[in-house]
Amino acid sequence: MKQHDCDVAIVGAGFAGMHLIYRLRQLGFSVRCFDKASGVGGTWYWNRYPGARCDIESVQYSYQFDDALQQDWNWTERYATQPEILKYANHVADRFDLQRDITFDCGIASAHYDEAGQCWGLRDATGCLARARYCIMATGCLSVPNRPEIKGLERFAGPVYHTGTWPHERIDFTGLRVAVIGTGSSAIQSIPHIARKAAGLTVFQRTANYAIPAHNGPLDPERLKTIKAGYGDMRARAKTTYGGIDAVYNTEPALEATPAEREAEYERRWQAGGLTFLGAYGDLMLSKQANDTAADFVRAKIRQTVKDPAVADRLCPANIIGGKRLCVDIGYFETYNLDHVSLIDLNQHPIEEITETAIRAGGKDIAIDCLVIATGFDAMTGALMNIDIRGRGEALLQNKWANGPIAYLGLAIAGFPNLFTVTGPGSPSVLTNMLPTIEQHVEWICACLAAMRERGHTVVEADGKAEAAWTDHVRDISAPALKSTTGSWYLGSNVPGKPAVFMPYLGGLPAYIEKCQDVVANGYEGFSFSAG
Ligand code: NAP
Repeated sequence: MKQHDCDVAIVGAGFAGMHLIYRLRQLGFSVRCFDKASGVGGTWYWNRYPGARCDIESVQYSYQFDDALQQDWNWTERYATQPEILKYANHVADRFDLQRDITFDCGIASAHYDEAGQCWGLRDATGCLARARYCIMATGCLSVPNRPEIKGLERFAGPVYHTGTWPHERIDFTGLRVAVIGTGSSAIQSIPHIARKAAGLTVFQRTANYAIPAHNGPLDPERLKTIKAGYGDMRARAKTTYGGIDAVYNTEPALEATPAEREAEYERRWQAGGLTFLGAYGDLMLSKQANDTAADFVRAKIRQTVKDPAVADRLCPANIIGGKRLCVDIGYFETYNLDHVSLIDLNQHPIEEITETAIRAGGKDIAIDCLVIATGFDAMTGALMNIDIRGRGEALLQNKWANGPIAYLGLAIAGFPNLFTVTGPGSPSVLTNMLPTIEQHVEWICACLAAMRERGHTVVEADGKAEAAWTDHVRDISAPALKSTTGSWYLGSNVPGKPAVFMPYLGGLPAYIEKCQDVVANGYEGFSFSAG
């Protein structure tokens, strides 16, 4: 394998890695990007399960760094499908000739900092691949599948698919008895599609989830034209909202509205569809009592939709709405009205084991032909902890983060000079529209590298003190928040043994952007620089 000597090594060729290549090249840095996939797209390369699509409107879940790109590209639906998003990623790669700087089918196993040489050495399983002054981890927040440990799973004779590493070929469920384990976003999107083909579908649910209808449909060309005419303004407005989505977020408290007013507002948002349902009132994620009003509304909708009251009961979440990431669905709850679809509550009937031909739960064998595992990801830290990353003094990141991530702004880590993370823990990332959030990180990192070059600096490192203060701040604001009271992948509670730490920054995108800007305005406060 060829060794690449370059200014910047990038791990990951998803939307973050692709934008990094583009911007760094523009600034005159030499780059080499590595990805274990055979193509660009990151999460959209891997998550090919039936029904996979974006839960943020595509006109907003798209790049804004190049106006001609956003003017030229035409999304066809309100929420783009996975194939369309992957096509978009490939279009961007072709348009800006990004592939020539990417090594595909290459999973980075280690990244070690060479203090004397002031550079990073990256290796895959076969040997040294790159030496670079800087290393940028664009490894994604939801890129390492969480695989459940279930007795007998390896014995099962039929095919087993994980939604996060779905095969490239079309899987035909026609006439098969299928089981799905998990009821998060991936399951909620795929279950209606699988049910349409399968002879029988059994869903194994550990925690019921809230889902708001997508009301997806073709994008009206006239609407697209209007959006494009005002794209810049829309993007600017989005940056002023908590989650980086241009939508109306009310600030008034739910508890000050009358029940009739609340019902009307929730109904209006239910009919509009999508994640911004939670923007109905300003206190929904602050007060349990307020949250209950929205949760009750959605539970009532589930009961209206699902005909069997016992099944509806099982599908009604007991926890707060928005604690786990809200799901957006197309016909999910209706699917349980089909005679060949059944729901098993794992709290009442835990899986005892999997045999060659069945799942044994609650003392009963449910015969299946294939198994779909929709158990999500080792989120936010999984991809970084899976790489042997060593900083100064060969210190291991895995040791530093053994009790949870410690990072400055989710961008840099003390003791790991010249290493950056895109949308790392401690940044708003997964609580926001990821594309603009990625772009904000890419722009910040690239501006930092350009400023260093101008000043003759060759090493940058986050200060331990600034890092500790930011990590404390991230923890302090999440402690009283309703969101941190629900077990979720934000907290790592979906992965057995993972420390329970609320990982993303809950202060919102505008506050975070301001902090990043202040850091720069104050001479890169919290970072130290030196010259070789
Ligand atoms: P997820 O939200 O973490 O859901 C995983 C599901 O599997 C949960 O129902 C979980 O139950 C269950 N589970 C986990 N381990 C289990 C075990 N050992 N036994 C039984 N059940 C188990 O994962 P996901 O659905 O893949 O979604 C993850 C995130 O990816 C989403 O929140 C979203 O941010 C993103 N995503 C987005 C879209 C989109 O619409 N654009 C689509 C898919 C994914 P518990 O809740 O009890 O842990």
